[in-house]
Amino acid sequence: MSSHHAQQCAYFKEGLTLSYAARISALHQFDKALRQYEERLVAALYKDFQKSAFESFTTEFSMLYEEIRHAQRNLKKWMRPKRVRTNWINWPAHSAILREPLGVNLIIGAWNYPILLLLQPAVSALAAGNTAVLKPSENAPAVAAVIEEMINTNFDSGHLVVVQADATQTQQLLALRWDHIFYTGSTRVGQIVYEAAAKHLTPVTLELGGKSPAIITASANVHLTAKRLVWGKFLNAGQTCVAPDYVLVHESVREAFIQACISELKRNNYKLGQNHYCQIINHRHFDRLIALLDPKKTIYGGQYDRDTRFIAPTIMAEVTLTDAVMQEEIFGPILPIMTFDALENAVKQVKALEKPLAAYVFSTQKNEYQKVLSDLSFGGGAVNDVVMHLSNPNLPFGGVGHSGIGAYHGTHGLDCFSHRKSVLYKKNWFEAPLKYPPLSHKKLNWIKKFMK
Ligand code: NAD
Repeated sequence: MSSHHAQQCAYFKEGLTLSYAARISALHQFDKALRQYEERLVAALYKDFQKSAFESFTTEFSMLYEEIRHAQRNLKKWMRPKRVRTNWINWPAHSAILREPLGVNLIIGAWNYPILLLLQPAVSALAAGNTAVLKPSENAPAVAAVIEEMINTNFDSGHLVVVQADATQTQQLLALRWDHIFYTGSTRVGQIVYEAAAKHLTPVTLELGGKSPAIITASANVHLTAKRLVWGKFLNAGQTCVAPDYVLVHESVREAFIQACISELKRNNYKLGQNHYCQIINHRHFDRLIALLDPKKTIYGGQYDRDTRFIAPTIMAEVTLTDAVMQEEIFGPILPIMTFDALENAVKQVKALEKPLAAYVFSTQKNEYQKVLSDLSFGGGAVNDVVMHLSNPNLPFGGVGHSGIGAYHGTHGLDCFSHRKSVLYKKNWFEAPLKYPPLSHKKLNWIKKFMK
């Protein structure tokens, strides 16, 4: 492990990653390898948690190809110095921001989208001229093995390499001095990562989770809301960091909304191996989720089978903030529903918890959704939709507070793996005497006059 780190430090110091030619060729190589291994990766996703070929493409590969294409198209523009205005005190001069790569990165991925969450930041790292050690999640072992072969046979390990590590070995990796650590996963482990990074003053990007609310007001289009929300909640069997974790619905539309969700679920007929419904990743998560179920509050679903790690899409109603299901991020196919009378109170309930990674508001009244957007702090979200905001490469993707530090995707990914170096280009044909001795009152008055 430390040998890969040393190798990458040497590779980066040589300047081999810096040029446009090196970056564009790395992106091309990445794209080619991904296309070559796509079929095997899809099979590995199925092996790890029976993820369907349809969802594998739509939720992992499509976004990854889009990210590569976006980087290829914009790289030249991104690499140009960005001119900014120069203030009078520096006249005559011009100013620019130059992006430089941070250097040697450690990228740690999560298991729920095990390809996308490890490789999408890797694309940004390469485009920004870095090297990276990629650490896939050990909870999706079949995918991790194929990614290791794909990267390690196609890249110089000084540039990009995959290492397999469990929690203890990951801590050994974290003890090394990186130029940047990019971590996706739980808030608990995020704190471990942050602490390890602090020892070397290493900057971090932490892509964490949280309880993301969906607020449904009385003015919402109930049927379309139920359709979009059911899709986003039960996608990947609820194992999506930006899935709506719980619903706050206005009491006047509660019944209609619940009925619309139930008919949507019946229509979708989610079953294991059918209609793209996948397994819970492992028995540890399965047992954790079952402990959150309260049969007395379950109004739809609730069936499960430990052998096949199947949990049916489940709706719980009459839920309160003190229920087990509201004590932690669910990260599974259980949807708790709570009600509110005034929008003010829904906002208060969300504020009682940590700042979430996402928040969603369903409403046709501008004043309602504006209130939610301005009163709540959250990583990102949508009005009248769920999850889809992260598929727009022009929007930065990241959390705030306990849901994360930093953001990526598209140009924001390039920023995430770059230092923005400020440079003042001074001309030599004039030098104002104001800052040099003798520092008289007259000079001070001149300065004051200019600064007011
Ligand atoms: P996790 O924190 O258990 O694991 C993530 C990574 O951390 C894995 O690679 C794992 O090997 C490593 N790890 C685990 N324990 C460690 C330890 N003690 N020391 C060092 N490294 C350790 O997270 P997870 O279960 O894979 O993912 C679930 C969480 O991640 C949820 O909270 C979810 O919301 C969040 N998540 C966030 C995003 C995002 O983009 N913001 C995406 C997916 C998941």
